[in-house]
Amino acid sequence: MGAVPPPLSAFVSELDRLIEGGQPDFLYRAAAAMKRLLLADGSWLPAAYRQPHPMHYQQYLLYRDPLSRFSIVSFVWGPGQRSPIHDHQVWGLVGTLEGAELTQAYMPPMYPTDLPKEQGPERRLNPGDVEVMSPALGDIHRVRNASDSEVAVSIHTYGADIGTVSRWLYPPDRPAASRKPFFSGYSNDAATPPFFGLV
Ligand code: FE
Repeated sequence: MGAVPPPLSAFVSELDRLIEGGQPDFLYRAAAAMKRLLLADGSWLPAAYRQPHPMHYQQYLLYRDPLSRFSIVSFVWGPGQRSPIHDHQVWGLVGTLEGAELTQAYMPPMYPTDLPKEQGPERRLNPGDVEVMSPALGDIHRVRNASDSEVAVSIHTYGADIGTVSRWLYPPDRPAASRKPFFSGYSNDAATPPFFGLV
């Protein structure tokens, strides 16, 4: 296991401080810290955690808080790859490191018969841009690589050990009652250990 990248360590310390402080604008402060510490210069993220998979997007756990209050994950999108429509159940920050992503928010369903309904236009996240999500602000979205030829890499931070959180997939063109429970897990293998216990 290599040394923890200093920008990641600094971001973990800042998140810890912000969570302990319990400020009401915690999420926006965390987003600003993410932009400043992790996204301004993405060279801290080793190549192994930027490797796309030919068939589906990758989610490499970088760091998990010892109390599981938050987790930090690198997402790697191969050309044209996209997520299903899904929720998170906890707060989240999505920040683009390299390439660009398109995110589409969806309305929370009010009735079991409701079909997934887009909420506003698809938004483009360029390097340095951060999107804030929470169950209160809006928690259902779909993300895709903006490019059909380049890889996109983003850093996601969530208010839990997100790979273990029970959440929902929303099949397109199906009513909300057809949503499916899922756990995302992580893509890490022997070459991509999380930076546990080192910060
Ligand atoms: Fe998401």
